[in-house]
Amino acid sequence: MNLNSPRDITAALRAAEIGPKKRWGQNFLVDGNVRRAIVALVDRRQDDRLWEVGPGLGALTELLLAAGPVTAFEIDWGLIAYLRTAFATDPLTIVAGDAVQTLREAAHTEGAPDVVVGNLPYRSAAPILSALFELSRPPRRIVATVQKEMADRLVAPVGTRQYSAFTVAAAAVYRVHRPFDVRPACFYPVPEVVSSVVVMDQRLDPVCAHHRALFRQVKDSLFAGRRKTVLNNLKGRSDLGVRDADHARSLLETAGITPSDRAERVGVEAFGRLTEALAASRGAPS
Ligand code: SAM
Repeated sequence: MNLNSPRDITAALRAAEIGPKKRWGQNFLVDGNVRRAIVALVDRRQDDRLWEVGPGLGALTELLLAAGPVTAFEIDWGLIAYLRTAFATDPLTIVAGDAVQTLREAAHTEGAPDVVVGNLPYRSAAPILSALFELSRPPRRIVATVQKEMADRLVAPVGTRQYSAFTVAAAAVYRVHRPFDVRPACFYPVPEVVSSVVVMDQRLDPVCAHHRALFRQVKDSLFAGRRKTVLNNLKGRSDLGVRDADHARSLLETAGITPSDRAERVGVEAFGRLTEALAASRGAPS
């Protein structure tokens, strides 16, 4: 099949008795230049374990397989059946199910991936990326195609409207950049939104590597009420070991955070310092 041809794709879907499903974000890449440009960002090294999330009909898979084995995570049984036939002689392993769960399970049972690639379904992109960030050994590189607004959040500078808990989760582990956007016309069916390709490279100095679970809780608690000050968000968190408002204020000051600021003005390193201060005050490893 010509994977750049909407007509061939429609015919293949019809033959497999499957249609493009909106709920699973099935907008297939049909532009050969974009497919090649994404795969060129992968930077696969010898013996790297490479995973693809949401292979669809194989637009990226076909090119990725040219450089070695691929483990692909797909939710749609119709597409899985198609891929098993189309790539029967290739070193392709398919993990069926919702990648938000199966990624974690596979990392546990088979070992974490070095590189992950995916033209991600719009609705599940955030939980899929979060699952990757939270692996005990996060991938060295992630190359993800996401909705442009999500890319804006991933690269948002501190102090901007798009800067969010998701930005901080990514920035604690990765240096994120956005090499290019992808026009709706490069997909079939044509989506209503512009997409962006983002590349995330693991930091050599990840933030709070020894207290990752506590870091996530602290970050989420400070963003819980976006319009509230960080002091007000933190002071009631006895579940995290914050005793009262004075304790919260002293933790924030130790971390160099102004208690009257909102979370969107707190940089990722400061979230790290706050987590360290809290961990030290609890006196026990988290
Ligand atoms: N990689 C193909 C391409 O570029 O043409 C397809 C990309 S399409 C945007 C998203 C793919 O992710 C679809 O194949 C869809 O079935 C799959 N998908 C959606 N939700 C998923 C989930 N929770 N877990 C695994 N795969 C999922």
